[in-house]
Amino acid sequence: MRSRALGLVGLVLVACGPFGRGPDSATPRPMGPPRVVLFIGDGAGLAYWSAARFRDEPLAVEEFRVVGLVDTRSASHKVTDSAAGATVYATGVRTYNGAIGVGPDSLPRRTVLELAEMSGLATGLVATSSITHATPASFTAHVSSRQAEPEIARQMAGAEIDVLLGGGRGYFDGSLRPDSQDLLTGMRRRYSYVEDAAALRTLRADTVRALLGLFAPRHLPAAAERRPTLAEMTSAALAVLDHDPEGFFLMVEGSQPDWRGHENNTLESVTAEMLDLDRAVRAALVYREKHPETLIVVVADHETGGLALEEDSPGTLRADYTTEGHTGEMVPLFAIGPGAERFGGILPNTRVGELLLEAARRPGQVAQLTLERQ
Ligand SMILES: [Zn+2]
Repeated sequence: MRSRALGLVGLVLVACGPFGRGPDSATPRPMGPPRVVLFIGDGAGLAYWSAARFRDEPLAVEEFRVVGLVDTRSASHKVTDSAAGATVYATGVRTYNGAIGVGPDSLPRRTVLELAEMSGLATGLVATSSITHATPASFTAHVSSRQAEPEIARQMAGAEIDVLLGGGRGYFDGSLRPDSQDLLTGMRRRYSYVEDAAALRTLRADTVRALLGLFAPRHLPAAAERRPTLAEMTSAALAVLDHDPEGFFLMVEGSQPDWRGHENNTLESVTAEMLDLDRAVRAALVYREKHPETLIVVVADHETGGLALEEDSPGTLRADYTTEGHTGEMVPLFAIGPGAERFGGILPNTRVGELLLEAARRPGQVAQLTLERQ
């Protein structure tokens, strides 16, 4: 359909009055810069949150007054994968399973993180998988297949993201990459760099403007052994991003509820992943106490495993599964902060992406996303 090469350019920022345009933009945003934290619990369907809630400690998400249900299908399948599932939140565009930051035509789409960056906001990605894995990758990279992790790392190293925390050292370190390309040395010139939880804890966040933490060659361990925890990474990310007076966009992924589902693991290990995620949400709520203009959205890309909670004997639950793959059930969404009410009800995942694109921009500006011919 398109004969010439397409470049990923063409962000147009248009000044247009205090509250944006169109009926959906009528909700006034309180004074202050946009601060948006998106949590994605990979695979975290309703049974996952239900499992966590059977622990008798109140969940952070119970403080959220807006709850929605998201239809998670992709452009190619009724049951999405994590690449298409994250790309639609990052861009507002449904794409094919396996796609990273590209539309159904395999052409790049501008992501909310890139939009935030071009609007002068600080940006961050946090995950308990390799930072090059499908969900975080979809917010900054543009490749036709999620398998292209060395290329995703290359694109990530060239992007101007202020905070990157997770696993994946093996994709940046030249001594570990299959092509021996050294991305890490260049990044260490731009970032304060940490490789373990102790270094993250002793970091003087008030002195750090850009933070890179790669805590494993590939993925972080399961929740019970995970150091740093997702909450520690989230708190560090927020402390660094807080320096930017223009505001920020931060995506935090609890990557491994999905893996517990794929492996049909015990309820205990599922619950451990969900509590690790929920404690990270708590860290964002603590941040929000001082910055009430912060919008926090907690969602899943899809459900995994068809998890059901069954009671074999009175008072004892166990996990049962219908599949080792993903399922097509709607997933819960929780929102708090300015504009949170727009995330209520039943939403297609495209709508969640559109609302995020509107939230992560400076007040008084509308982002028009175009792809221009070169
Ligand atoms: Zn999965």
